[in-house]
Amino acid sequence: MAQSLLQEQLLQHGDFFKLTLTNPDGLAPAQFNLADGTSVAIWDTGVICFTPAQLSQKDIVLSCGVHGNETAPIEICAELVKDLLTGQLQLKHRLLVLFGNPAAMNAGTREITENLNRLFSGHHSLGAGLINAERKRAKALEDYVSRFYQEVRVTNLVPRNRYLYDLHTAIRGSRFEKFAVYPFLHNKPWQKAEFEFLQACDVTTVLLMQTPASTFSYYASNSHGADAFTIELGKVQPFGQNDMQRFAKARAALRQLVSEAAVSTVHFDEQQFQLYQVYRAINKQTQEFKLHFADDVENFTAYPQGTLLATDGDIEYRVEREGEAIIFPNAKVAIGQRAMLMVVPTTVAHNIA
Ligand SMILES: [Zn+2]
Repeated sequence: MAQSLLQEQLLQHGDFFKLTLTNPDGLAPAQFNLADGTSVAIWDTGVICFTPAQLSQKDIVLSCGVHGNETAPIEICAELVKDLLTGQLQLKHRLLVLFGNPAAMNAGTREITENLNRLFSGHHSLGAGLINAERKRAKALEDYVSRFYQEVRVTNLVPRNRYLYDLHTAIRGSRFEKFAVYPFLHNKPWQKAEFEFLQACDVTTVLLMQTPASTFSYYASNSHGADAFTIELGKVQPFGQNDMQRFAKARAALRQLVSEAAVSTVHFDEQQFQLYQVYRAINKQTQEFKLHFADDVENFTAYPQGTLLATDGDIEYRVEREGEAIIFPNAKVAIGQRAMLMVVPTTVAHNIA
């Protein structure tokens, strides 16, 4: 498509998401300005960067569709991009919006060959290397995030605040419908302001990780010092079948995040949150691995101590601790992969800034 025609269509309809779906394998870079002086740069399919005429100190990355069938966040981001392009929403901060896996979105599946959210921090190039589309995309997304954060020079006088919110919906229901995963900070303090932002998004359940991970949010946090989160906004539904009322607060907070100096939040109070940390990860060791609870058991369900949770050949996994709850159980993972996480309630009071 000629650049002027593309630009004209985007300014008129703002449908960058549709453009992404019709070009899942790539999109030629393009650059143009909006009427208010905002610069718009298309870097690739599903990758669009907005720079306001007046720079603030925030650099914000919003990503969705890292799992292709997690539609509600994709719809929220598609609408936000459309409203920015058509002038319905005024941009305040630098913003990079990423539609993670366009091919899987078209297929209506979580992934084509491999879980994209297990391929970051260089995992895309381990083992067999860049052998499939998801591995190549993970590397490309890392490069785009690096480019975005590094394009603006960081000086001691004017530090920049980096953010990455990777938006998902969960496969199964959850006792707490919305929850966030706070990547391992290597003992740096958790951020009050981030808990306040999560609460504005209607997310008050937070899982605090204690080890490095191959997720997009850990990558942004660890490699770029961003305040980064994986945010689970509810349960997976097909496109157009989401009850958008359930996402109203997250949608509003994200729009405020990009268009206003600050998001309206309430002061952090730990009592308003359900905080968990990982107690143990249960990995599948044999083909006989079996979960001993129903398929529709919700994330964060807790059972009495001693309850049999899973068997793996001769090994039995039972609830060991009071309050220990299951999260992300999946018996179908490959041997050696994580089949379930066990979490326990925790506090952040000892290390928060
Ligand atoms: Zn997901």
